Order: sequence, then C-alpha cells, then structure tokens
Amino acid sequence: MTIDQYNFAGKKAIVRVDFNVPLDENGNITDDTRIRGALPTLKKILADGGSLIIMSHMGKPKGKVNPKFSLGQIKDAVAKALDTEVEFAEDCAKAADQAKALKPGGVLLLENLRFYPEEEGKPVGIDKEDPGYDAAKKEMKERQKEFAKTLASYADVYVNDAFGTAHRRHASTAVIADYFDADNKMLGYLMEKEVKAVDNILKDIKRPFTAIMGGSKVSTKIGIIENLMDKVDNLILCGGMTYTFAKAMGGNIGLSLCELDKLDLALDIMKKAKEKGVNLVLGTDCVAGDAFSNDCNTMVCSVMEIPEGWEGLDAGPKTRNVFADTIRPSKTILWNGPAGVFEFDNFTAGSRAIADAIVEATENGAFSLVGGGDSVACINKFGLADKVSYVSTGGGALLEAIEGKELPGVAAIQGGK
Ligand code: AMP
Repeated sequence: MTIDQYNFAGKKAIVRVDFNVPLDENGNITDDTRIRGALPTLKKILADGGSLIIMSHMGKPKGKVNPKFSLGQIKDAVAKALDTEVEFAEDCAKAADQAKALKPGGVLLLENLRFYPEEEGKPVGIDKEDPGYDAAKKEMKERQKEFAKTLASYADVYVNDAFGTAHRRHASTAVIADYFDADNKMLGYLMEKEVKAVDNILKDIKRPFTAIMGGSKVSTKIGIIENLMDKVDNLILCGGMTYTFAKAMGGNIGLSLCELDKLDLALDIMKKAKEKGVNLVLGTDCVAGDAFSNDCNTMVCSVMEIPEGWEGLDAGPKTRNVFADTIRPSKTILWNGPAGVFEFDNFTAGSRAIADAIVEATENGAFSLVGGGDSVACINKFGLADKVSYVSTGGGALLEAIEGKELPGVAAIQGGK
C-alpha cells in the first residue's frame, strides 16, 4: 500500500516520525528541519479526515523517564506546524483512552518512546558478557512485542516516516508493523523519497556514476567503499582518508590524519579498483597547515611531501580541478563526506569545488544524492542544498542502505524486497 493510494477518512493513523530535533538549554528548537520533513505525511492524513497519533524518540534517555528528553517540549511547535491543536500523552504505553477519544482531525503526540527500554529492545543493566544476557535478551524481545502491540492497538493504520531510524529494528520502527495487515501499513512521503533516492543510486544507475567519499577515516567508510566498488565508474576518495593512502604509497604526510593500521587496506582498495576497472581518484596536492586551526599558516604541497609539523587540511588546486572534471560529466552522483576541514572557512575550497561540480552536473540532468552527516552540513553551509537532486535526512540509515544492507524499517512494510 502507498500513502497516496490510502484514504485516511475516519481512520486513526499511528505515525512514526523522527522528531529528534536539537534543543537549546531552554528547550527551544534550534533546527526544525525534521518537523518540517514529516509535514506532507501528517497533513495528508488530516486533510483526508483522519486522526493522528504521532510517535517519536528524542535523544538517548536509555529506557528511563528523563524530562530533558520529553517530547512535551515540542508540542507547541508541532501544533503550530500543523496549524491545529495537539494533545499530549504523558505515557506512550498508557494512551489508549486518549487515542480512543480522538475525533477526525484530532492529533495526539505520544511521549518519548525511548522512556521505555522496550522501544529499543535491548536488555538493561546487564553486560553482553554476563551469563544471563541471552535469557535477558529473549525476555526483552518478548516485552518489545507487547509494547509494539500496545502502540498498534491505538490505531487502524501504521505509517513509518522516520528514515533516520529505519536501520533500527525498534518497536515503533519495525516490530509494530507485524500488527497491521499489508493494506494498513505504509511508508510516509519522506521515507518514500529516501528509499527512491537510494534506489536511484543502487539500482536505476545512469552512467557515468561517480561516488565521492570524504570525511576523516577510511575505517568508517570501508563497507560503503566496498559495496560501491561493484557499481561506480569513478570513485573519488578525499578528506582525511587521502593521507592514509599517501602514507601507504610511501609518502611523507607530516602530522596529517592517518590510520596506520589501515595502510594495507588502502593498498587493497587501490588494487581492487584496478581489477574492477574503477577509476579511483585520489588527491595529489593539498593545502597543508602548520596547526589544526582556521588561522594557521598554509602552503600548497604534494600529498606525498608534506613537511614535518604540517598537516593536510584541504584538497589542493590541481586535485580540485581533477575532482571537478570527474564529477561534471557524471549522470549519477553520490557525495558523502567533506574533502577538507570544511568547518574552518579557510579549508572549504575542496568541498566547495565538489559541491559546485555536482550542482553543474545536476543542472545538466544528473541525479545527485548528498547525504550522511557532515556532507549535509557542508552543502547547507554553501547554500546549495536545493541545487542538488536530493539531500538525505538519514545519516546512519542512508549509509547502511548504501552499504547494501536491508533497512528493518522499510522491510517491515515492504516485506523485505
Ligand atoms: P566523517 O564523520 O568521517 O564523515 O568526517 C567528517 C569530518 O572529517 C569533518 O569534521 C571534517 O572536518 C573532517 N576532515 C575532512 N578532511 C580532513 C583532514 N584533511 N584532516 C582532518 N579532518 C578532516
């Protein structure tokens, strides 16, 4: 079932959203992107004449009630965004009466699901190594089912629009789906868009396909690099990873970021790229600094000859040109991770060159997906988010999907396709 096919008139819909918004010390929302992201789904349900039971997590309260993470703090913001009154259920597992009393057009916001350990389904107060762990885990899984069943009992239909937690098999993201038949569970609009964007990258590939992987470490990206190696034409590896490769090739990298235990891995990636006919593009020159700060002294040098006491902090001018020339003619583009320490204004040029080339390729008809943590911050910093095809909201979920892993939140609805 798709959300567009469904008529919510007279139905109670329980919707898992990601309202894990950042709050300041006074409980004010500092970035409401996630609330805005869920609005198309929530508004469609209300416009059809349905009622809404909204559920989310916030922060990491670790299975305990903690006012710091109460969703009560965002109730008014949700009401404003939906332009209607919102009721609040202070205990998400005891909201049956409030749910029952909901009239068409009514909205009930449940308290933070993670106040209950059952949401995440991990046993509390026991280590993995402890003898009773397996039994505790089994018991918690049973409790998780009961918790999910309770949430399901509030509604006629289940909608999952929380892509940010789609890679978790939690009560509200996956287990709950077992209590609805196929005609009464579906992805929300945001989830649909994210899943489609990942499909464009992994399934409906238009060539050439260029993936740009940056950020600090090879180790955190290796799963994705390996999965992409079978799919891409060009693989640009940039950012802090550059220097692990340079070191592996015998370069002097000064104080640059380096994972000494990943030198063999770096050489292996180079070998595999050759075997698979992938054009692996690594930085050749860099902008090095004499300290890790925005105002340090800088010089342009080869990544193989960085002087003692200096560190590579951004891609150099030659490298930037090669990156841009590789990206511009591409028809499918994935960008994850900056090419330099973009948080420092003086070291944004590498990431900027990548972003500009992606925008140009997109204008020429490429599909471009930017996602995963810092690349989103980066594209926002440049004000170019609306000039690429899609900016993903789901950090970990997006990365797992690109690694080729099944997302429990999607599989629970689509039956694991
Ligand atoms: P990640 O979370 O692995 O995607 O890494 C993102 C971080 O990598 C950002 O905070 C960047 O500042 C950092 N980064 C990118 N290039 C470098 C570099 N050459 N040296 C140190 N950090 C870098």
